[in-house]
Amino acid sequence: MANDQFGKKVQTQSNKEVFFISDFTNLDIKKVVISDVIILDYSNKEGCSGFLNQIRSSFVESIYLTPVFILSINEEIDSFTMSLSDGTVHSLQEEAFIGPFQAIEQRIRQLQSTNNQDQEIKILNKILRFYYTRQSRMKPVISAVSHTGYSFPLLSLHYQNVNTEEKFAVLDKLVNKEFFRPRYEDLVHLCNNCYSGFLNYREVCPKCDTSDLYTENLIHHFVCAHVAPESDFISGDQMVCSKCNRMLRHIGVDYDKPSLIYTCNNCGHHFQESIMQALCMSCESVHSVDSLLERKIYNYELTALGEESAIGGLVPTEKQDSEMAGFIGFSTFNIFLKYEIERIKNSGKTSSAGSLSLRTPAALSNSLGVKYNTVVTEVSEFIKNATLATDILTFINSNTFLIISPDNDKFRLESLLNNIRPVVQKLIDSNIDEANIVVKIKAENIDSTKNHNDLINSLLTNNGVG
Ligand SMILES: [Zn+2]
Ligand SMILES: [Zn+2]
Ligand SMILES: [Zn+2]
Repeated sequence: MANDQFGKKVQTQSNKEVFFISDFTNLDIKKVVISDVIILDYSNKEGCSGFLNQIRSSFVESIYLTPVFILSINEEIDSFTMSLSDGTVHSLQEEAFIGPFQAIEQRIRQLQSTNNQDQEIKILNKILRFYYTRQSRMKPVISAVSHTGYSFPLLSLHYQNVNTEEKFAVLDKLVNKEFFRPRYEDLVHLCNNCYSGFLNYREVCPKCDTSDLYTENLIHHFVCAHVAPESDFISGDQMVCSKCNRMLRHIGVDYDKPSLIYTCNNCGHHFQESIMQALCMSCESVHSVDSLLERKIYNYELTALGEESAIGGLVPTEKQDSEMAGFIGFSTFNIFLKYEIERIKNSGKTSSAGSLSLRTPAALSNSLGVKYNTVVTEVSEFIKNATLATDILTFINSNTFLIISPDNDKFRLESLLNNIRPVVQKLIDSNIDEANIVVKIKAENIDSTKNHNDLINSLLTNNGVG
C-alpha cells in the first residue's frame, strides 16, 4: 500500500509545494507530480538514493525533471546520487534552494510537449531535457559497480551492464547528431566480449600460457661472453662463471645485467619476452592486450542545436524534417558548412549562412499537429523555390531553416531572407489564425573567424530581424 503521507510539507514564502522526505517506506512516486521541489534526507542513504533513482528513472517528464535537493549536514554524498540531484542543502530554509529551483523551473516552462513511444527517442529526449534544464554538462562518475568503471548516472538508470554497447551507441549518437560536444576525460580498456573494465593483466609463458613465472636477471660475463641466468653464477656467497670458472666481482667492470629472463614454473621454458594477457573478471574470457577495446570517456556539453532539440523535443527518424525534397539532413549540412569554410579560406571569396525560424510559442506546434505540418510543408516548398539553386538547405527541430549560400555575402542573403520573411509570415497567419508564430531571420558571413559550431550557434540563437 502506498503511503498517504508524502513527506512533510515545508512552509515557504513563495507558496511552492516543497516536500521534505525522510521516511522512504511506501512512497507513492505519482505524488512527485504535485511537488515543485523535493528535499530528501541523506541520513537514510539507501532510502534517499533509492527514491531519487526512482524519480530519475521515470519517463514522465513532470516526475523526472522535478528539482530534487539532498539534505545532508555532515555526510559527503556519493557521486552517483549527487549527480542525479540538484545539489545539497544544509537546512530546509527556502534560501537554500530557491535560486537553483527558479532557474530549473524557468527552463522547464520553455519545453514543448512531446509524445512518442519510441524507447530510444524517449531516452534521448530525456537526456537532452534533463541537462538543458539543469544547464550542466553530462559528466561521467567513477563507479566500481559500473562495468566500465565509469558511469553516466542518468543513462545508467536505463541500461544494465549487459547493455554497455547500447549505452555507448546512445552517447555516440548524441555527438554525431551534434547535440552534445564531447570533452576528453580518460581512456579505458575493456573486454571485447562483455565490455567489462575489470581486467587482470598478467604476463604468461609463450609455450604453455601459464602465469606462474619466475623472473631473474640475465648476466653477461664480459671476458668470455657467457650469458646465463643469475642463478647459474651463484656459488655460495660468490659469483662464479660456469663457462670460464672466473670470479665475477664488479658490475660494469666484470659483467652487466642486460635484461630479465623468465622461467616458467609449469613447463620449465626459459624466455625473454613474455606475453601480456588480460583475464576478464566479469566473463572469464582471456584476451591478448592488443585485442582489448579502447574507449574514450568524455563529458558532454549541450550545443546550441542540442538546446533547441531539448526545447522542441525529438521526433522519430521517419518523421524527420530532412525527408523533404530539396533539403538535406542536418549532419550533411554540417559537413557542407565545414567544406565551405575551408573553401573560403583558400579562395578568398565570401559566402554566407542564414537562418529563418518560426518562433512557435511553447507547446503550440504540438497541439497544432497536422495543421502545422501542412503549413511547414508549404513554407519549405516556397523557400526552396525562392532561394538559389546553389543554396544548401536543411530544416531542423520542426521550426528552423538553415541555408548556406555559396559566393553570396551576408547582405545579399539577408535581403533574400527579408523578401522571403513576410511571405512566410503571411502563409502561416492565413493558415493558422490563432497561432501567433513569429518568423525571424538572421545571416552571417562565412569566413575564417568562425568555425562551423560557432556559426550554427549564432544562427540558432536567432534574435535577428523579426
Ligand atoms: Zn610454460
Ligand atoms: Zn666466463
Ligand atoms: Zn568480459
